[in-house]
Amino acid sequence: MNVLVIGANGHTGRLIIKELVDSTQHFAKAMIRKSEQTKDMEDLGARPIVADLEQDFSYALENVNAVIFAAGSGSKTGEDKTIAIDQNGARKAVDYAKQNGIERFIMLSSMGADQPQNAPEGMHVYLKAKHEADVHLQESGLNYTIVRPGALTFDDAEGTIIAEHSIADKSGSIPRADVAKVLVESLTTLETNHKVIEILHGGTPVKEALKHV
Ligand code: NAP
Repeated sequence: MNVLVIGANGHTGRLIIKELVDSTQHFAKAMIRKSEQTKDMEDLGARPIVADLEQDFSYALENVNAVIFAAGSGSKTGEDKTIAIDQNGARKAVDYAKQNGIERFIMLSSMGADQPQNAPEGMHVYLKAKHEADVHLQESGLNYTIVRPGALTFDDAEGTIIAEHSIADKSGSIPRADVAKVLVESLTTLETNHKVIEILHGGTPVKEALKHV
């Protein structure tokens, strides 16, 4: 598949590009917001396209079959950016995907986005933004997978996870590298179509775990 990665220069985004390139099954198009990031993306084996989630970025979705949304405003910006990027940027990506007849849309969401009203004070706006983006995708008619990891770490990939619609004990974490594997594997795992999946580090190989969600 020709896959557009939105947020390609991010910590998880770069790992997603690597997974796509290593798969040899996919072509990676890397959406970045600064032209200085172009060479890095080319070195990783992706085709870069410069576009900003706060502007019209519909052109980035031309000639792709699938989208992986892995962008985020980060924890150092204010609530205005959380809403502009995590909510409205993601919603626009869904709308453009629909206009372009995109076959698969994989959303990197977050554990807790199902019930933002229960979030601790500092997480409320972020999880509400993630929730709104997820609901918009679910109502879009697109063939989606919404992936909700727990806390992300910089550890090496384990290649094994827990994946369930709703994990009872949500206290764990997961390496970004395993999240990247889940996002890329979901593209072609039919069992993940139209599903919301929570993931944490665990004992089941990624492929097998995704077949039983
Ligand atoms: P990250 O390193 O902060 O990367 C976010 C990316 O989004 C960056 O590449 C950034 O671009 C890009 N971006 C921000 N604003 C943009 C804009 N206006 N236009 C285009 N791109 C823009 O992210 P991460 O830590 O890997 O997290 C990835 C995702 O996982 C996020 O959606 C986050 O909400 C979610 N998540 C995080 C946790 C956690 O524990 N941290 C848990 C669950 C889910 P630049 O590189 O140019 O800055």
